[in-house]
Amino acid sequence: MIDLRSDTVTRPTPEMLKFMFSAKVGDDVYKEDTSINELQKKAAAIFGKEEGLFCPSGTMTNQCAIKAHTQPGDEVICDVSAHIFNYEGGGMAFNSGVQAKLLNGDRGRFTSKQIEAVIHPPADWLPHTSLVCIENTSNRGGGSYYRINEVKDIAGVCKTNKLALHLDGARIFNAIAETGDKPQEYGQYCDSISVCFSKGLGAPVGSVILGSKEFISKARRVRKLLGGGMRQGGYLAAAAIYALDHHIERLKDDHRRAKYLGKILQTKNFVTDMLPVDTNIIIFSLTDDITAEQFVQKLKNENILISATGKQTVRMVTHLDFTDNMLEKVENAFKCL
Ligand SMILES: *Cc1c(COP(=O)(O)O)cnc(C)c1O
Repeated sequence: MIDLRSDTVTRPTPEMLKFMFSAKVGDDVYKEDTSINELQKKAAAIFGKEEGLFCPSGTMTNQCAIKAHTQPGDEVICDVSAHIFNYEGGGMAFNSGVQAKLLNGDRGRFTSKQIEAVIHPPADWLPHTSLVCIENTSNRGGGSYYRINEVKDIAGVCKTNKLALHLDGARIFNAIAETGDKPQEYGQYCDSISVCFSKGLGAPVGSVILGSKEFISKARRVRKLLGGGMRQGGYLAAAAIYALDHHIERLKDDHRRAKYLGKILQTKNFVTDMLPVDTNIIIFSLTDDITAEQFVQKLKNENILISATGKQTVRMVTHLDFTDNMLEKVENAFKCL
């Protein structure tokens, strides 16, 4: 099977597994897990943040951040396509008692001007605007990314208006691979950053949240009450350490393969609209004579898995376990459709 449904489907490589087996561990609720401590320190240093917190998922890192930055009744500014709004089970309402102010960005990205236009002035009857969440790269935006200057502008508006800025950087290393921007700059502009290891970086489990010492101590408390306090989780942290050391440079290969697939697909008569392929995500619409479900099934018959994301739209995501050899097979399968 060639699995292009998501970049979460990767399995640990033999080298990663070997590294995981040799991890030094302890009880992380007592802060005694050597590998988790090392990972948190390492990730914080990459982004120039004081501290990090290892969590089982990117949903948990985002939810911990939202809870740590807000009070119930607050308003959180995010894009209409944001993961925190669409794919976290209504978590911001459930866990933090906050509501979203949705912006219509350009493929998941909005501007500092759009933020300025929706910040509430102080008034008893208005929700208190306290947090802005940006997503980079944008998942529903098809892997689109911000340039660091745009993030700088957003951070400026947040600072002026005393809003916290959270970066859902589930795929931040995909953005960095494409732009060459410095992780430390993200650290400088964003109050908190969530980074996933189980996407393009190819670890089996885990995300980290980064921020100031004070912020992480709040987030740590929230993680525990959400049930995310792990004990000898260092075996998983080791996979993330391995990924940071070995799987960042190769993200460019995923982008190259995705862009190549995008080019081929553009020549096919079953494809109508396609979002620009900026990183590792390909999203396109199909002509009326075939539904997304039928298209997915047709490829499944060729041992290729992709996702239907709407009635006429499908998504493919390249990743660590998708090779050039598989790329050729997918190209050939498209020839026969
Ligand atoms: C995958 C993803 C997350 C986290 O998802 P989990 O499955 O909970 O790890 C968060 N934000 C974005 C944009 C994502 O794509």
